[in-house]
Amino acid sequence: MQQIQIERTTNPKMKPQASELGFGKYYTDHMFMLDYDADKGWHDARIVPYQPITLDPAAKVFHYGQTVFEGLKAYRTEAGEVVLFRPEMNMKRLNRSNDRMSIPQIDEQLALEALRQLVLIDQDWIPEAPQTSLYIRPYVIATEAALGVAPSKQYKFMIIMSPVGAYYAEGIKPVSIYVESDYVRAVAGGVGHVKTAGNYAAGLKAQEGATVQGCTQVLWLDGVHRRYVEEVGSMNVFFRIGDKVVTPALTGGLLPGITRDSVIRLLKHWGLQVEERLISIDELVQAQQDGSLKEMFGTGTAAVISPVGSLYWQDEHLQIQDGTAGELSMRVYETITGIQSGQLDDPFGWRVML
Ligand SMILES: *Cc1c(COP(=O)(O)O)cnc(C)c1O
Repeated sequence: MQQIQIERTTNPKMKPQASELGFGKYYTDHMFMLDYDADKGWHDARIVPYQPITLDPAAKVFHYGQTVFEGLKAYRTEAGEVVLFRPEMNMKRLNRSNDRMSIPQIDEQLALEALRQLVLIDQDWIPEAPQTSLYIRPYVIATEAALGVAPSKQYKFMIIMSPVGAYYAEGIKPVSIYVESDYVRAVAGGVGHVKTAGNYAAGLKAQEGATVQGCTQVLWLDGVHRRYVEEVGSMNVFFRIGDKVVTPALTGGLLPGITRDSVIRLLKHWGLQVEERLISIDELVQAQQDGSLKEMFGTGTAAVISPVGSLYWQDEHLQIQDGTAGELSMRVYETITGIQSGQLDDPFGWRVML
């Protein structure tokens, strides 16, 4: 594995107060960079002071969106250790995204080692207040200056990090969701199953529409039938219907979340029946009406669990039970955040101590 060169900053920044953190507003003192050239492969692994980068205006990423990203977090446990949550899953997924976007594979061991060294160098940036963390954003951009539509011959892989505040600073409040029946996020065979920038740009319009209806997030239906539920905002989605937990199967239009995988494994470990299958909006509305829809929640790294209180569908707000966070949602939330913060045992070996 290639050596990682380290250039430390001589000019460390002021760290924000826990109360000012928010999401993605501040960046740490260092960043990781790795370059790719068709004739050299990936080279020049380095940690450098956080700084702007210079790109040719013709760089392919600006024109054709050849880019992928990841998102994960580092946590500080009560005992003071630095912990990552299943980081090897992020680097595997990064390479699956790379493959789909015709970006060359990255040595996952090198990427994990870069992550480890970068987090250790900037570990004082991991906030300590409850539920805060250091959000980590690995990403790849196509940098070749050429307007022909073809895979770039040059790339940059970078990792930047941002201290983030408690997602639920005011306690867990269930969100209202707008069921989107015009716009779609993705279609099977496209790129909905990988983390690439265009998926998010394409979702903004629907998100704006949801806001106008007083909703926080969009519930995405599949692109072919406009009938099967896929994701909520940029989270995976779960439903407790009767005595089962149901989540959309990975049919190609949705992202295989690491939190999704963790939640499925946890629920099965608790002896619950989990089904990964197609779920139509009609089935959901029916279950809401006959009372068998007990809970609905989104899952993702940023929030971990995001309970849903109501669905806006065909000009009606359909409340889920009493509109408060469900008991299973809360139990899953407490367990996963407890494993991440080191307050609970880690029976699955998900924590990686640095
Ligand atoms: C990142 C992401 C998720 C959640 O994935 P996690 O690995 O759990 O953070 C779900 N859906 C979309 C569209 C995403 O981009």
